[in-house]
Amino acid sequence: MFRVLLRLYLITIVTFSAAIYLIPKAVIQLFEHRYVSYNLEQSRGFQSLIVKEYQRAPVQQWANVTARLAADFAPLKIQLMRLEDASFTSQEQRLLEQRQPVIRLGKWGWMEDVSSALDDQLVVKLSVPPDPLDMNMLYWSMNVLIGAALLACLLFWLRPHWRDLERLKSTAAQLGQGDLAARTHIPPSSNIGSLAAVFDTMANDIELLLNQQRDLLNAVSHELRTPLTRLDFGLALALSDDLPAASRERLQGLVAHIRELDELVLELLSYSRLQNPAQLPEQVEVVLDEFIDSILGSIDEELENPEIVIDVALDCALDRFALDPRLTARALQNLLRNAMRYCERRIQVGVKVCARGCEIWVDDDGIGIPADQRERIFEPFYRLDRSRDRATGGFGLGLAISRRALEAQGGTLTAQASPLGGARFRLWLPS
Ligand code: ADP
Repeated sequence: MFRVLLRLYLITIVTFSAAIYLIPKAVIQLFEHRYVSYNLEQSRGFQSLIVKEYQRAPVQQWANVTARLAADFAPLKIQLMRLEDASFTSQEQRLLEQRQPVIRLGKWGWMEDVSSALDDQLVVKLSVPPDPLDMNMLYWSMNVLIGAALLACLLFWLRPHWRDLERLKSTAAQLGQGDLAARTHIPPSSNIGSLAAVFDTMANDIELLLNQQRDLLNAVSHELRTPLTRLDFGLALALSDDLPAASRERLQGLVAHIRELDELVLELLSYSRLQNPAQLPEQVEVVLDEFIDSILGSIDEELENPEIVIDVALDCALDRFALDPRLTARALQNLLRNAMRYCERRIQVGVKVCARGCEIWVDDDGIGIPADQRERIFEPFYRLDRSRDRATGGFGLGLAISRRALEAQGGTLTAQASPLGGARFRLWLPS
């Protein structure tokens, strides 16, 4: 906030200084006639007194009169000059010849000097010297204090705006991070009250839409399961009959398709369940090496290629860590299954625990993931279009589910390049 305030102050000061210099100049130029007549009126008394002093004495003593008047009027300056003096313009000379006073304006439209003709040749000039330094300083310090008072007013006015804008910003960030219940709670009396109200209405709409979408996905997935189970059961019954080999093969193909559909529905249900903010993650303290071992054990049977080697590297200052075992295991199983599908020979699982949290990474020596796709692969149903990806036959939901499972616990899941040459998935859980 102070940066904004400083900028505002600098802009105000620069504008104020420019305005203080330019605006009076323009106004004086525009109303020069009025300024001249006003100053002439103001100085008429001085002038007639000075001229009378000269007229009372003979011309030969005018030099003495000048000296006396200069002493009396100091610091104002009194000069006796000739009418044809070069410092007078021809127009000024004409006025003086007509016995009219000639005035020149200085700063702020105040009189700088005034000249009056004494006879056909001599003129007396009264000049006002520039302000002394201390007076100038006082004037500028007055301006600085006015600026400071303006700044104090600005601060007073800006503070509630700033506070409300910060609240709006943090609510937008919360909403972006998936906290759909976040609202600004800015009162309508605030100057940004209407903006905040529009924002809150938008947040309500988004929450409603996403909830409807999730509920629809949930309902459709549930509704699909019953007919799928019936179909599976019916096909199993049909397969138990005596059938010609070709029909049996066709029916077995259908059973495989139904199982695949059933798997998709299960994945969809897990995905939509993870989107439910009401489901809070558990916090169970686990012994990390045992936890990793149990996950590796659970996917061991799926290891099709016996030549694949899985290494585990534990670097734990603490051997226990509190996490949601079901969600974390789900995410790790997905990552390990992917690594098994895509690796050549080696998979490495690393675990590092520090006071701030726990980091687990799964490396493989496979084909890796192109850098520009490392974020997109976490989108639901997104699959890379490589021959190998098509052969693996997934739905593109595994990584989306894994990321949600970690985000539900306040953690993150990212894809990187692995030192083994393939992909690295880095999982982070805060303490
Ligand atoms: P799927 O179930 O189709 O594998 P995922 O969400 O698990 O879906 O993965 C999405 C895509 O990310 C996959 O289609 C694949 O292209 C890519 N991918 C995932 N893991 C790896 C990996 N270890 N190495 C290379 N590519 C990977």
